[in-house]
Amino acid sequence: MGTTSLAQRMVLADGRTHRVPLSTGAHHHCLGSQRALPYSADRGKKSVNRQALHDLKQQIPLLGYLQAHDWRAARPLSRGRLMGLCPLHDDQKPSFLVDPHKNLFYCYGCGRGGDVIRFAELYYQVRFPEAVALLRQWRGLPPLLHEAAGFYRMQLHRHREAVAYLYQRGIRSSELIEHMQIGYAPGGCLRAWLMQLGYPLQTLRQAGLVTASGYDAYLHRVVFPLDGNLYGRSLSAAAPPHRFLPGAKGGLYAWDQVQQCPEVILVEGLFDYVVLRQAGFHNVTCSMGNHLNGHQYRQLTDGRRTIYLAFDADTDGSGQQAAQSLACRLREQGVDVRRVSLPDGHDPNSFFVQGGDARQFQSLLEAARP
Ligand SMILES: [Zn+2]
Repeated sequence: MGTTSLAQRMVLADGRTHRVPLSTGAHHHCLGSQRALPYSADRGKKSVNRQALHDLKQQIPLLGYLQAHDWRAARPLSRGRLMGLCPLHDDQKPSFLVDPHKNLFYCYGCGRGGDVIRFAELYYQVRFPEAVALLRQWRGLPPLLHEAAGFYRMQLHRHREAVAYLYQRGIRSSELIEHMQIGYAPGGCLRAWLMQLGYPLQTLRQAGLVTASGYDAYLHRVVFPLDGNLYGRSLSAAAPPHRFLPGAKGGLYAWDQVQQCPEVILVEGLFDYVVLRQAGFHNVTCSMGNHLNGHQYRQLTDGRRTIYLAFDADTDGSGQQAAQSLACRLREQGVDVRRVSLPDGHDPNSFFVQGGDARQFQSLLEAARP
């Protein structure tokens, strides 16, 4: 299926007369008829490869991949198919047909078509094995979470309650919102969006994006993409405030940006992280909770630096207890640790939201004790 069979063309064309390819331009040498058939080529040891290729294509729906390459549909056709300008030739009027359910494309202008692997071959002008390698690399981003995060980002500015919530939590910098790719899960629409991109319901359930009963798992939550997960903070006091998808929450937030800093501020929550960044503290990272996983702990101990623990000063003392025990463990590893004392009942977020400024926080850092 790396090349377009006549049967595929007919399925895609769906009754439209298939025009003879007109373009004999730069891509002509890539035309399917001149290539070896990739999947059936060496008959024999294939079934494993075949399965791996099948999985790869399942994990990278064609429409999502096209959109990530800036392709936009010009108009919808029947049965969910889409027509737009062809990314493979200099197209003047939309002649590129995409069927998201079959995960196939066909261009009436240049006469080329196939699946996502074939598209990568033609788009990057590489051979089949390199196209597969490129797609595997791209999948490394977890494409499903990438799609979900992108969808949530689009929702953020469409929902006044989400923007109002960010404002109320002191998040004002649109550059930072953009940079951190903060989004909003209104609930009740992610599932339809992802299924329209070709993801099977079962895949969405497995990822935890959709509940067993088929509803969007994140409802009325501000969403932050993490390394391999999505953190959702509920707007409603009635729901559990913090939520992650199944699986590890990942390492420290944006660790590669602070790894080289001689002094690093560690906070519990992403809302603490944002206000500190906004106030000009760029040497900040976040553990998303006051219990560090093994990966996060190893990151903190992987070099010489001073760590400022700016955990919550909550009334039940749990943040400070966690800070104390973490400080002890880090000190045993030879790490220089200081504990920052926030005013009672405050976390870094509320400190800034209720009028604290960068100079005052700097004084707290300077007063921090081992
Ligand atoms: Zn074309």
